[in-house]
Parts: sequence; C-alpha cells; structure tokens
Amino acid sequence: MTAQLINGKEIAQQRLAKVAEAVEKRAAAGLRKPCLAVVLVGDDPASAVYVRNKKLACQKSGIESLSYELPAATTQEELLALVEDLNGNPQVDGILVQLPLPKHIDSQAVLETILPHKDVDGFHPYNVGRLVVKMPLMRPCTPKGVMTLLESCGIDPKGKKAVVVGASNIVGRPQALELLLARATVTVCHSATQNLAEEVAQADILVVGVGIPNFVKGEWIKPGAVVIDVGINRLDDGSLCGDVEFEAAKARAGMITPVPGGVGPMTIATLLENTLHAAELHD
Ligand code: NAP
Repeated sequence: MTAQLINGKEIAQQRLAKVAEAVEKRAAAGLRKPCLAVVLVGDDPASAVYVRNKKLACQKSGIESLSYELPAATTQEELLALVEDLNGNPQVDGILVQLPLPKHIDSQAVLETILPHKDVDGFHPYNVGRLVVKMPLMRPCTPKGVMTLLESCGIDPKGKKAVVVGASNIVGRPQALELLLARATVTVCHSATQNLAEEVAQADILVVGVGIPNFVKGEWIKPGAVVIDVGINRLDDGSLCGDVEFEAAKARAGMITPVPGGVGPMTIATLLENTLHAAELHD
C-alpha cells in the first residue's frame, strides 16, 4: 500500500480563502477588519520566519496585522505592559506572542496575561480548560488545524483508536483533547511511555509531535492508518523532516501528511480563523 498524501498546503489555502471571504462580508456590513497583534521578542531566526509567514497570511486574507519586534533584552515587565496595552486596545482582536521567549521571561505569566478572548493561540489556561470541559472557545492552532485536516479528508475520529505521541502544552495535550471531543478513544504517549511501538501499532489515527527527526518508525504503523506528523526538524543539510520515518510510513499508512506542506500551513490558517472568531466575539 502507498499512502495518499494529505495536502495541508492546499487545504490551508482553501481555509484562508474562506477567511478572506468572511472579512469582505464584514466590510460590506460596515464592520472593521479583524486585527492581529504579533509580538516577537529577540532574534531567533526560526521565530522570525514563523512571524513573517503569519503576517503574510494576514495580508492575503485581508486581516490587519500590527507588528511589535522587541529586543532580546526586553524585560518581563516591559513585555507584560505591552500585552496589557494590547488587551485594552479596542482595535486589536487577537494577540500572539511568538514562543519561545528569551529564558529570562516567564512565558506562562505572559500567556496568562493575554485576555482569553484575544488569546488566538489558545494557550491561556482558561481556553485550555474550556476545551477540557467540551466548551471550546479559542482552540490551540496546531491541534485544531489537525482536526480540520482530518475533516477535509473525510476522516471522522468518532469510535476510532487515536494515539498521540508527545504531550506538550501546545501540541500533544490539546491534540488529545480535540480527538476526545471528536469521540475518538485516545492514548497519549510521552517520554515515560513504555512499549511505544506497541502503542503506535494500535492507532487508526496517529498524531506525532515529539521534535526528534524520524523518531516513529514506519514498521510500527498499523496498515491503513492515518498518520499526521506535526514535527518540524531541520537537518544538517538544511532540509526539513518530520518526526515520522516518512518513506517507510508511507508504504504502510492509508493517508499521511508530508513535512513540509502538511500540518505547518494549517497552524497558520487556524490562527487566522481564530482571529476572525475573536473579532466576531469582540463585535
Ligand atoms: P516539546 O515541548 O519538546 O514536547 C515534546 C513532547 O515529546 C513531550 O511531551 C515529550 O515527553 C515527548 N517526547 C520526547 N521524547 C520522547 C520519547 N522518547 N518518546 C515519547 N515521547 C517523547 O515539543 P513541541 O513544542 O510539542 O513540538 C514537537 C514538534 O512539533 C517539534 O518538532 C516542533 O517543531 C513541532 N511543531 C510543529 C508545529 C506546526 O505548526 N507544524 C507547531 C508546534 C510544534 P514528556 O512530556 O515526557 O517530556
């Protein structure tokens, strides 16, 4: 079997086109453009690329973006003051503080300062808690983007066995909650999991977000499974690869996301959907 490729780039473009359409409708109804404030602290090159891509996607879909690029020496107090300022700014619908932040800044304190209805990344404990109690408001972008990918490919998680490898606050944990909300039976694996290969082999839907190149072996995968690779790893030769051994997994899976061009574009599309949603809440 050779797996069907899930084209995240194309699906993300379709979603961005829908956001653009909704923004135009808002304008026709006399409502203002949604506005996303993007805050970048320091000069991490990968973060700079992510921020640039997010701003470009805003432009494409008619969402206004405000950019705050602060030096690495910015203090926690200065950053918190900026976030408070954006919280109180009626022109701003969504606030995104690009992670990781420099080590001297307490990221959690910053994320918890963002008003929950402007928290378009969905990382505030209020928003995570809403997902836990089956009443999601702002949903973390990457896991929600994965759910959109599944839906676009006609895959209903209901009744399926889903395995999530990785349990971080931004990927694995909220992913498990999203799959549970969609009525899958969910197993979450992390670095203390024993017999990982056996767990992975149970998955009808496998989502991997670990951050180790080619970590999940193709031979572990259940034939016909849907494999979603969230990992983005840069190799020494400059190329990107995921957390799943792609070629071997492709030979066994039913569907698989490539890296790049799978989950990555969906994260950005979901961010803009969240910004539109934040503007609607704001109205
Ligand atoms: P992270 O915070 O480092 O979390 C990694 C997770 O993997 C942790 O839960 C860790 O377990 C688990 N893990 C580590 N070693 C393991 C092992 N040997 N066996 C099983 N689990 C293991 O990373 P992250 O922020 O979630 O990111 C994960 C990957 O996704 C990275 O490649 C990142 O670049 C990528 N990513 C992509 C997007 C996108 O838009 N496509 C968005 C975000 C992240 P413990 O909990 O036990 O430590």
